[in-house]
Amino acid sequence: MAVTRVLMIVLDGIGDRPGQIPGGRTPLEAAATPVLDRLSREGRSGLLDPVPPGVEPASDTAHLFLLGYDPLQLQLRRGPLEALGCGIVPDGESIAFRVNFATVDAAGRLVDRRAGRIPDTTVLCDAIREGIDLSAFGLACDIAPGTGHRAALVLRGPGLGEEVTANDPPAPGTPPPPVHPLTRDPADRKTAAGVNELIRQAGAILARHPLNHRREEQGLLPANTLLVRGAGRPRFPAPFREKYGRSGAVVAETALIRGIGRAVGMEVIPVTGRSPGELVRAAADALRRHGFVLVNLKGADDAGHDRDPAAKKAAIERIDRALLPVAGLSGCITVVCGDHSTPCAVGDHTRDPVPLLVRGEGILPDPVGRFTEIACRAGSLGRRTGPDLMPLLHELFGKTDKATK
Ligand code: ZN
Ligand code: ZN
Repeated sequence: MAVTRVLMIVLDGIGDRPGQIPGGRTPLEAAATPVLDRLSREGRSGLLDPVPPGVEPASDTAHLFLLGYDPLQLQLRRGPLEALGCGIVPDGESIAFRVNFATVDAAGRLVDRRAGRIPDTTVLCDAIREGIDLSAFGLACDIAPGTGHRAALVLRGPGLGEEVTANDPPAPGTPPPPVHPLTRDPADRKTAAGVNELIRQAGAILARHPLNHRREEQGLLPANTLLVRGAGRPRFPAPFREKYGRSGAVVAETALIRGIGRAVGMEVIPVTGRSPGELVRAAADALRRHGFVLVNLKGADDAGHDRDPAAKKAAIERIDRALLPVAGLSGCITVVCGDHSTPCAVGDHTRDPVPLLVRGEGILPDPVGRFTEIACRAGSLGRRTGPDLMPLLHELFGKTDKATK
């Protein structure tokens, strides 16, 4: 059977360093991963540097490179990607921002930049959308909720610029600063003035919103201000289908990664649940309709940020169980990799290479039998970079197609 489909499984923040786990093992080495081990035995392994040297190892940046897009060259900014991921389609004139609902005290000083991890801001976004009046600036706005305290904001109107500062993160205990234009261009000044007025009006709307009154009664922090960052004009790179001659889909919880999918014209699969099992099932289902499916599985990254190796090991084992249906897939190439490392000892993303495996019909296995930072070093794929990955798959594909015709 000719290989016609590719499933790319990105294990977010999977890479780690030996540390607190007995025996000097990484969470991946300590975890029981029968499914990943089987995929390793059946495929070829290597190490991957998802982003090129000197580039920040952020999830969105890494995913773009893994898909063969260079976000720096394409000037893809996070505001518009977040907006696309939250379901707003910004037009070419508009400027989009990433937003945190946050808490300030009566004197306007920052108390918490995540508003006590408020779980859902849908009603607050509705109130802002309905209540804001930027007609004096000739502008309109849209705001949509993301996960938890996150949201996306779009300023619409003529003559807006994208070179403005963020008001996030403000120094703890100080008021968030106003957004400033970074140039003397009137367009950038207009954006700064418009977004500052929006933040001012939103503060008044949020201060009187019943949801915030209820939160305060319950001893929770109110979501009473907006922090904005990642300003940018939307840009749409070459569509995935045009670039690779096949349609693509994305399955991800993270709005930025969903936004990347939308920006390159991939289908973004709606996911209701957040368990890795549901995401993997949605990806396997999407593989029936698309030649390429990317699924991002969180969990390991969160544990890395929390500096909790035991939780990271448990998250990896949960992901491994969720991957069981992948082991039975035929007629497709499966790629498993990370987007960056999130070592528990560091609590943040690092540039340490991540394990990589490629498995599928027509691909000769190598002797590597485990998907870990050390085992994959010995794999026949050697050390690859993010931008190499799609060309590598294309090569494997071409050979496989010929071999099976
Ligand atoms: Zn990530
Ligand atoms: Zn992370």
